[in-house]
Amino acid sequence: MTVQLGMPQTPKGAGTGLPLATRPADAPPGLLDRYGRRATDMRLSLTDKCNLRCTYCMPAEGLEWLAKQAVMSAEEIVRIVRVGVDRLGVRELRLTGGEPLVRADLTSIIGAIRSNHPELPISMTTNGVGLDKKASALKAAGLTRINVSLDSLHEETFAKLTRRPFLDRVLAGVDAAWAAGLGPVKLNAVLMRGINDTESPSLLAWALDRGYELRFIEQMPLDADHGWTRRNMITAAEIRGLLSTDYVLSPDPRARDGAPAERFEVRRRKAGSEESQGPVLGTVGIIASVTEPFCSDCRRTRITAEGKIMSCLFSREEFDLLGLLREGASDEALAERWQDAMWVKPKAHGMDHVGLDAPDFVQPDRSMSAIGG
Ligand code: SAM
Ligand code: SF4
Repeated sequence: MTVQLGMPQTPKGAGTGLPLATRPADAPPGLLDRYGRRATDMRLSLTDKCNLRCTYCMPAEGLEWLAKQAVMSAEEIVRIVRVGVDRLGVRELRLTGGEPLVRADLTSIIGAIRSNHPELPISMTTNGVGLDKKASALKAAGLTRINVSLDSLHEETFAKLTRRPFLDRVLAGVDAAWAAGLGPVKLNAVLMRGINDTESPSLLAWALDRGYELRFIEQMPLDADHGWTRRNMITAAEIRGLLSTDYVLSPDPRARDGAPAERFEVRRRKAGSEESQGPVLGTVGIIASVTEPFCSDCRRTRITAEGKIMSCLFSREEFDLLGLLREGASDEALAERWQDAMWVKPKAHGMDHVGLDAPDFVQPDRSMSAIGG
């Protein structure tokens, strides 16, 4: 059953010159949308729960967690992934949440997916708390690579941003992931004005020293507190400016290939000059979802922890895949619902058109942790 979340459906169709709102019977296979994009990158949320309370994501008191029964079981996850990979052309899987490490059956879920799909790249985005104890087992189960969120290297700032004093545990997790062979380790940082923005060059220096790839993510209006404003967010242009005090960035010659992050090669800046000196120290990524959106090349399809298909972080329409699966649907029926859901993927999220004070921007009902970032 399609769940409508308040967005009026514009009737479109044959003869109007506009893309069809309903997937035509002769639509090509795979997760295609009416604007010609094909989703091959699946983001699957394992849980809505989390042990941190990042200010840009969750409220201090947490959210009302889903009932256990409402969340996909390990078997259901494995089946949904199989339908995506075997029938719909999914080529890459990212496990996320909430915090995936809080799921006790995480290792066995990864193991089961790996045994079905020996070649599938499986990565995971995590806050890193507890990763030091699990990294080796995750690698052995078949996890390919890891992204750890790390916004600050200062205990106080870290605790202010995440509302938990766990910096040491996260750093131990990052190192353990590297040692376990879960590289290349990518680090995600969200910059918040007046809190960790000026720390960006030293965060980059730390990552470059250790061979980790740091990516700065523009803060999106997906916080449960609804505190985001366009005026207050740190833009990609500002991030480049902040980093330019110490570094010279030049576009990475490798093809972006649908990746959300625009990558730059990093060289040290010659003191008092616009020029660089020395070799390339590594790369840095900037994910400019708000100010330099990449919707026209988006290849993502999302499944929430309760098995809803979301074609975009900002879709206001969800399609219930888990409900259908629990009614006993065939793989073919599941694939069809998934295709229907992706067909109506919005052309763009529209955040970039929002005025500085964002008076007309309606934030989605779900916050980032409830979607799966
Ligand atoms: N708990 C895990 C973590 O923090 O890495 C996985 C889930 S989290 C929702 C995934 C990513 O979304 C994290 O890198 C986090 O920094 C990012 N994120 C959360 N809220 C965001 C927001 N409002 N804007 C931009 N990125 C956000
Ligand atoms: Fe938890 Fe990740 Fe959201 Fe932080 S960003 S509150 S770690 S889900």
